[in-house]
Amino acid sequence: MELKELYQEIILDHAKNPRNQGKCEGYNYDAKAHNPLCGDKVHIYLKLDKDENISGLSFEGEGCAISLASASILTDTLKGKDLQFSRKLTNDFLDMLKNKSKIRLNSLSEDQLTTISSLSGVQEFPMRIKCATMAWHTLLSAVKKKSKI
Ligand code: ZN
Repeated sequence: MELKELYQEIILDHAKNPRNQGKCEGYNYDAKAHNPLCGDKVHIYLKLDKDENISGLSFEGEGCAISLASASILTDTLKGKDLQFSRKLTNDFLDMLKNKSKIRLNSLSEDQLTTISSLSGVQEFPMRIKCATMAWHTLLSAVKKKSKI
């Protein structure tokens, strides 16, 4: 299977069966966003414990396949990780879409790397980049009050 097909399959799978939907129990941070260009909406909920571990992470959203897949992949990849890691990966991810760079963090499993890289296809479609980045920007804004990025 070509990489491009594999990437499409991953996105479709996450869009059809989004992981971590709804409000996670005991969340203490949340933020929402709206992409008027496409009509996508997302609301991110996270539970940050006192060691800055993301013990709960979920989302509510509606919109196109890219926006749903992106939010699903975000929650799946960052749940259980700490805030510092999450910020680094988010910056890597945004950089991948805007500057066509590769994910630099080397602490991801090969599976996680493939999954997150599946969204790199939107680089070719500037109108869709916002669909893919919205959930990640929303995560950053949810934890903005916590400390400086
Ligand atoms: Zn969209």
